[in-house]
Amino acid sequence: MTKSFEEREGWIWMNGSFIPWKNANTHIISQGLHYASAVFEGERAYNGKIFKSLEHTKRFFKSAEIIGIKIPFSEEQINTAKYELIKKMNYKDCYVRPLAWRGGEQMGISTKNSNINVAIAVWDDWASYFKIEDRKAGLRLITSPWKRPAPDTAPYEAKASGPYIICTMSKEFAENKGYHDALMLDYRGYVAEGTGANIFFIKGKGIHTPIPDCFLNGITRQAVIKMVTEQGYKITERHILPDEIKDYDEAFITGTAAEITPIRSIDEVNFNIGDNTTTFKLMSDFSEMVNSSI
Ligand code: PMP
Repeated sequence: MTKSFEEREGWIWMNGSFIPWKNANTHIISQGLHYASAVFEGERAYNGKIFKSLEHTKRFFKSAEIIGIKIPFSEEQINTAKYELIKKMNYKDCYVRPLAWRGGEQMGISTKNSNINVAIAVWDDWASYFKIEDRKAGLRLITSPWKRPAPDTAPYEAKASGPYIICTMSKEFAENKGYHDALMLDYRGYVAEGTGANIFFIKGKGIHTPIPDCFLNGITRQAVIKMVTEQGYKITERHILPDEIKDYDEAFITGTAAEITPIRSIDEVNFNIGDNTTTFKLMSDFSEMVNSSI
């Protein structure tokens, strides 16, 4: 077992200052904790440079705005704090986690008197979200019984903590059955995404991915679409039915934590995997792209 996150050493940026990691606490009476009144980001630094840092900060502020949180810092302050923290922690390659949450000025779900807290933590042991052996061998996915909700039911464009319980339950469902991850369908029954990543399918030179009309349009997803389009692949964003999954040769997920990770199977459907696949080539192209965006 790796050391619990709570017991680590180092620094956390919290509400404008750097404080020792172990002192970065919040009271248990907090709306963030009780009602998931919170938004967060997930970013990755390569060689000391955060991939799409400004885009992540913009999404952080947009997520907050969608759920009614006014972050009491400017985008520039957050951008600067992220880099100062990475430097203070002496990291080159690391994961970056900004978080904003409503505090404990009041209980109940009224937001009238709530203060907003903001923190940033970084860690360097998510070399990959999935173990490197699992990534190379491809992930085994099972369809989750939980669905992505309709756009008028949950703030799907916000990276808000609340809706993540659907991902948590889906991931637990998959892991309890011996799978790496779950495939989530949406409220209409279309293929949506993984529990923390977007999904793509390949057939020949054609790459298909679901339309992000009720789930996060990932920053990695957008970067991968641009990269493969520039390489001459034809990208189609469309509604994909679970029955159509068997028609594809390859599949992969994308996300800040997952980067590009091949999928070996979804339920009973197996995909091509290995060094000669398009997915493996895209994995190395992606790695080159993020490491050269310095
Ligand atoms: N969907 C979900 C549910 C996620 O948690 C993530 C990770 N943030 C993504 C998609 C991919 O987003 P990104 O590429 O911006 O990390």
